[in-house]
Amino acid sequence: MQVYFDNASTTKIHPKVLEAMLPYLKENFGNASSIHSYGRKARVAIEDARELIADFIGAIPSEIYFTSGGTEAINFIINGIAKTNFTETEKNVLITSPIEHKAVLDTYKNLELSGFRTQFVEINNDGSFVAESFKNILTERASLVSIMHTNNEIGTINNIAQISPLLSENQFLFCDAVQAFGKTNIDVNQLKVDALSASGHKIYGPKGIGIAYVRSGTPLSPMQFGGSQERNRRGGTENIASIVGLAEAVKIAKVEMENNFRTVSELHKYFSEGIEYIYGNKIVINGSKNGSPYILSLTFNSEYFKNDIDTLLMTLDINGIAASQGSACTSGTIKPSHAILGVGKSVEDASGTIRLSFNPENNVTEIDYVLSVLEKIGKQNLRK
Ligand code: PLP
Repeated sequence: MQVYFDNASTTKIHPKVLEAMLPYLKENFGNASSIHSYGRKARVAIEDARELIADFIGAIPSEIYFTSGGTEAINFIINGIAKTNFTETEKNVLITSPIEHKAVLDTYKNLELSGFRTQFVEINNDGSFVAESFKNILTERASLVSIMHTNNEIGTINNIAQISPLLSENQFLFCDAVQAFGKTNIDVNQLKVDALSASGHKIYGPKGIGIAYVRSGTPLSPMQFGGSQERNRRGGTENIASIVGLAEAVKIAKVEMENNFRTVSELHKYFSEGIEYIYGNKIVINGSKNGSPYILSLTFNSEYFKNDIDTLLMTLDINGIAASQGSACTSGTIKPSHAILGVGKSVEDASGTIRLSFNPENNVTEIDYVLSVLEKIGKQNLRK
């Protein structure tokens, strides 16, 4: 049996998304910057997509920038806001949590080379931030706070709206919503954020397309030079077919989001109850009770199991099960996850932590099969 439980890493493309994209790879191939009819058709498609996506998150179209995905949106937002705000106010302290996606953490690290300083907010064991700890680090020099909406490794959902009342003038709030966009209601005004990132390939859209939302009036420098596209901030001919595909994925999400959430919540519950039935407290379900139902993070408690993450994931793969450690592996070697360590797990526990992530087409037969394989693996790895 083949089971794909790695949907937080990427989803397959929705047939309607592919169908919507094809004309823009074939007959509607124009460059949106051209003034002839081919170009105008492409321009209309881009601006329609922008309008639809803006409406979906409570923004206005001019606040949406198309990017090559979540990572680029994050780089653009953090660099763009931090550098411009520094020029205008000399604020150079960047705040984030230690369990953000590497796209945030590594962008911060890179900014440290030009004189910025990073301050980390404290994290509870369930992956949520400690609101009080903001008070100690939100000094006069603080420029930007980046906190993710839904943690990609353990599914914890943060109360983002709590943060903005703590900020003063010229302090900005960015939320990485890659794991939440299209899965739960995201409204930039309810979240009270100045900037937000989202990606297409987590919601049945194509890979290599995403958005940066940046509230108008927020300081923001260009990411890429060489053309006037995206209001002079991201030069380069637009990826029209993927933009159209992303808009189609959002259209589908608008209709299906609530039903999908319900279905996936039932799958999450079924899986969690199954694992508890088999293992009791020998396997820990990570995150909070009110986390995203799309993500289930499990730790084989190292008191009971000899953990080895490579063997664990490989054995699942041999049995036809696609799962992951947390975020997709980019280096070719699996190291204990910074996010799992960041929520207080030991290296031994982090080496026995896997993420299973669902889509609404998954079913209980698949879950029963995965549970039976996990039971076998557990027995093989029990400490004597
Ligand atoms: N942020 C989070 C929370 C993610 O889960 C991911 C991808 O897994 C990204 C950012 C990066 O998005 P992309 O793959 O579109 O670059």
